[in-house]
Amino acid sequence: MSNLTPFDDEEQNGYIKIDQYNSKQVEHIAGHYPDILRAIGEDPTREGLIKTPERVAKALQYLTHGYDVNAAELLRSAMFEEDYSQMVVVKDIEVYSMCEHHMLPFFGKAHIAYIPNGHIVGLSKIPRVVDAFARRLQVQERLTNEIRDCIQETLKPAGVAVVIECKHMCMAMRGVQKQNSVTTTSAFTGAFQNDVTRSEFLRLITASLH
Ligand SMILES: [Zn+2]
Repeated sequence: MSNLTPFDDEEQNGYIKIDQYNSKQVEHIAGHYPDILRAIGEDPTREGLIKTPERVAKALQYLTHGYDVNAAELLRSAMFEEDYSQMVVVKDIEVYSMCEHHMLPFFGKAHIAYIPNGHIVGLSKIPRVVDAFARRLQVQERLTNEIRDCIQETLKPAGVAVVIECKHMCMAMRGVQKQNSVTTTSAFTGAFQNDVTRSEFLRLITASLH
């Protein structure tokens, strides 16, 4: 068992894998790291590095646990009939992901809205959908679309809006070394394709109400 429990889970739905490392997979991944350490000029037998392969393997398993989460099922587990039909906005959702090109982190915030069409969803499920797709090897563009599509196809609302802004370590630490650039991506369906509705959403996520 690990002590990695970043969510104060009232329920384990979809998150069982977090608490249980797959020891076979950990062993498999860890087995490659002494070689990698040697290849970069390190001595994998020195004290500070002895347990590093195992730690890296566990970290990688955690950082990619989204592969084991069924995001649609997560949403379905907390859908309620309700005739509320105004925009529901969840903003400033923390995003931690890893770019699939360099396996370096990208992180920032997601802002998500939907307009109910007969059903609403438990609000805590929206950040979990973000996590389910973020905790994989990703590109920010696909992450944005996957979140939008999952909410649209599962909840079938009158519209979904997703805006994600992230810093990419592969840009900050290497390559062009632009430490402060932020990449923004967005994806909309239904009512959010309409200028007025989209502007209202963008106004809500940029306003500081709290
Ligand atoms: Zn990258």
